[in-house]
Amino acid sequence: MILVSGCLLGVNCKYNGGNNDNAAVHKFLEGKEYVVFCPERASGLLAPRLPSEIRGNKVYSKAGDDVTAEFRSGAEKALAFCKAHGVTQAILKARSPSCGVRAVYDGTFTGHVVPGMGVTAQLLAENGIELLDEEDLVT
Ligand code: SF4
Repeated sequence: MILVSGCLLGVNCKYNGGNNDNAAVHKFLEGKEYVVFCPERASGLLAPRLPSEIRGNKVYSKAGDDVTAEFRSGAEKALAFCKAHGVTQAILKARSPSCGVRAVYDGTFTGHVVPGMGVTAQLLAENGIELLDEEDLVT
């Protein structure tokens, strides 16, 4: 079973109220079993909401509010969802502070990225789930 970031399949769960619908993800999933999840919405954050970025071991909204607890809650809910559905692989949205697999924005809200993982991606990886992002699926 594959877990997919909701925004990659057209769910309007992104911070700006939109999505990141991705044709390569749809194509990859053809004929496969998958479930869809957005950790930030699951944590109770709204869409639209202010963007957030990781700084150190915390997550802050663009207004400077500490939203670490919400992001950790979303990650725990994502892990529970994965366990409930027998998920072994996840296709996650690149660079998100929740879903980023290899890199995340650097906390300055200037578009710069640094090596690292989103809060949910980190927890799923620690629990043995294989992670890809949508950029791995582009041929
Ligand atoms: Fe997409 Fe993940 Fe952000 Fe939700 S938390 S909008 S699934 S990148």
